[in-house]
Amino acid sequence: MKDQLINLAIKAKEKAYSPYSNFKVGAAVLFENGKIYTGCNIENASYGATNCAERTAIFNAVSDGGRVLKAIALIGGPNNYTYPCGICRQVISEFAENGDVKIYIVKNSTDYIETTLEEILPGSFTKKDLDNKGE
Ligand SMILES: [Zn+2]
Repeated sequence: MKDQLINLAIKAKEKAYSPYSNFKVGAAVLFENGKIYTGCNIENASYGATNCAERTAIFNAVSDGGRVLKAIALIGGPNNYTYPCGICRQVISEFAENGDVKIYIVKNSTDYIETTLEEILPGSFTKKDLDNKGE
C-alpha cells in the first residue's frame, strides 16, 4: 500500500498546474474506505486562489464520501523533501482520527521520509477544542 501511494503521488505530480511557480507537487491519500485519491497543485493568476496538492487530494476523497485519512504521500521538488504547508497540515489534522495518519515525504520512489502528524503539527487545533469551547 505504501509503495502504491508513493507511486501514485509521483504520477499525480505530472498533472500539476503551476505556470507561475513552475513548482510541481503531487499527493496521494488513503482513506478508511480503502480507496486512494490523488491531487496536484493548481495555481491561479490570483495567487491566493491556488490550491495545494495535498488539499486537492483530500478534498477529492472527502467529496467522494471519505472521512478518515489513514495515510498521505507527497512529492515536490526532486532535490529536497517537500513538507506540507501549514494550511495543509491543518486540513490533514481535520481528517486524521486521533492524529493517526502516516505521512510520507517523498523525494523519489525509493527515497522518502516517514513522519507523523504529531511531529509536523504538535499541539494542533481540532474539533475537540471547539467542543471544549476554549475552557
Ligand atoms: Zn499546502
